[in-house]
This record gives sequence, structure tokens and C-alpha cells, in this order.
Amino acid sequence: MTQTRILILGGTGEGFALAETLAGRRGVEVITSMAGMTPAPKTPLGSLRRGGFGGVDGLRAFLGLERIAAVIDATHPFASQMSQNAATACARARVPVVHIWRAGWSPVAGDDWREVASIAEAADALPRRAGPTFLTAGKTQLAPFAHRDDISFVARTVAPLSTAERIGLPASLTFVHDRGPFDLASERRLLDVHDIAWIVTKNSGGPAAYPKLIAARTRGIPVVMVRRPDAPPGLCVDDAAAALAWLADAGVCDTNTTANPTETVPSGDLT
Ligand code: NAP
Repeated sequence: MTQTRILILGGTGEGFALAETLAGRRGVEVITSMAGMTPAPKTPLGSLRRGGFGGVDGLRAFLGLERIAAVIDATHPFASQMSQNAATACARARVPVVHIWRAGWSPVAGDDWREVASIAEAADALPRRAGPTFLTAGKTQLAPFAHRDDISFVARTVAPLSTAERIGLPASLTFVHDRGPFDLASERRLLDVHDIAWIVTKNSGGPAAYPKLIAARTRGIPVVMVRRPDAPPGLCVDDAAAALAWLADAGVCDTNTTANPTETVPSGDLT
């Protein structure tokens, strides 16, 4: 039986859940691609490749060489470059692609958000001597805060930073290492332990990183929120379940057929 090869551009819970689900389908072969920024990522079922493709041309070549039948762009909403490259490369290679574009968060009563357009703007939006500030925008988004020597920062990253990655970071910076999803109790504890006065984050959307915003609301902590970039060009769906439905509707593969019908296929976090 000919295998239908699907490339998942990953790095998110949706990408992981999709790989776990699709890897159990009869006639389907899944390749998950990750940028390679996290030293020990959670490994999904199916094949895993790590590192960039080498821009649009590199990805287009990969699609041809690997005989990819369809691409699911399950990258993070802020990974705009990869999504744009996927849209262009797939159009040129005539490979169908869908982008998972989860809904962003919106403030509700009790939230105190200051919305900004970029991380650089977020660093300038913090008031003078703001107090301990929790940074949750990722390890590559710390250097823009280096000039704020009036503030002490607490940054959450999945893994410790290398020596090279620590160059040019704020002088007063404490790290906590953890991988989402995060629950409300631990987010409250973190805010209390570090006496957090402000939070800086990106409007990633989704449930996994939302509890910190509930914790901020109940503690009266203001949040500097970086607005999300524009949605990628082309077809976007809300979540992994809709991406699976698209595969079936587009006739790429039958996403209902399991390799072993008596086996339970893990659904993962499909939101
Ligand atoms: P980006 O700026 O859109 O991408 C920069 C370059 O990294 C791309 O041009 C591509 O290199 C490579 N790349 C990105 N995602 C890749 C993937 N899944 N597989 C292979 N190469 C990939 O991306 P980013 O914001 O740095 O994010 C990098 C990865 O971390 C993404 O996979 C994303 O899902 C994940 N992530 C990002 C965030 C965030 O806040 N940005 C948060 C959580 C997870 P080439 O041009 O050489 O192909």
C-alpha cells in the first residue's frame, strides 16, 4: 500500500497531538519538523526532523524529495517566518497546506492589559522601577529588556540557556525552567514566590499558557501584551481537529482509518 506522507511543521501542542493521532492511521506516514531550538523536545510519534529547511527554496526541495502529499503548519502564531515560507513553498510545489491559527486571547473584566506591537515596545512600556517583572515571551526575547536596569526580571524558559545565549541579557535576571501546559495553582505560586509586579507576554492564544493571565487578574497584576502578527496567507483553521477534517475533505487521506481498528488512537490536546 502506498503511504501518504504528511509534513507537520511543529513546535506546539497542536503539532504534537496531530502527529500522535495521524501516526496511527492506515496508509499515512507523518514527519514532524521542529526548528531545533529546544535541546530535548517532547518527541511525537512518526518521524522527527530538526533544524531549518534553508528558506523557501529549501522547503520546496524537501517537499519534492520527500514526496510530501500535504503540509500542516502547526507552528506557533508568532512563528510568522516559517508560516510565510510554508505558504510560498507549498504554492510553488503545488502541495496543499493548511495553517492552524488558534484564536488570540481577549481581555475580560478585571484584566489590566497594555497592548503593544512588539517586544521592544513592551520593554519601553514598563514603568520606571516597575518591580519584579515576569517575562514569558521566550528565550530569544530577553535581550530587548537589557537596557531596563531599573527592573529585576524573572524569565521562564523550557531549558537553561547556553553561555552564548546569555550574552546581552538584562543584568538582574532570574530563570525558572518549565514546559507548558501550566496550571492556575502553580502560576499563582510563581507570582507570589517572586513577588511579581508586572508580566510581559505575547498574545499566543490557546489554553496552555492562559492560567498566568487568570492569576494576574486575581492578583491585580498588570500585563504588557504583545499583539499577535497577521494570520498567514492561505487557508487557516482553528485547531488540530479542524486540520484533520481538512485532510479528509481535501482527499489527502482518510483520517478515520486506524492502522489497527481495535487500538485506541491518542487524541492528545486538540485545542
Ligand atoms: P520563525 O521566526 O517563524 O522561523 C525562523 C526560521 O526557523 C524559519 O525560517 C525556519 O528556518 C526555522 N523554523 C521555524 N520553525 C520551524 C519548524 N517547525 N521546522 C523547521 N524549521 C523551522 O520561528 P520562531 O518564532 O523562531 O519559532 C521557532 C519554532 O519555535 C517554531 O517551530 C515555533 O512553532 C516554535 N515556537 C515559537 C514560539 C514563538 O513565540 N515564536 C513559541 C513556542 C514555540 P528556514 O528558513 O531555514 O527553513
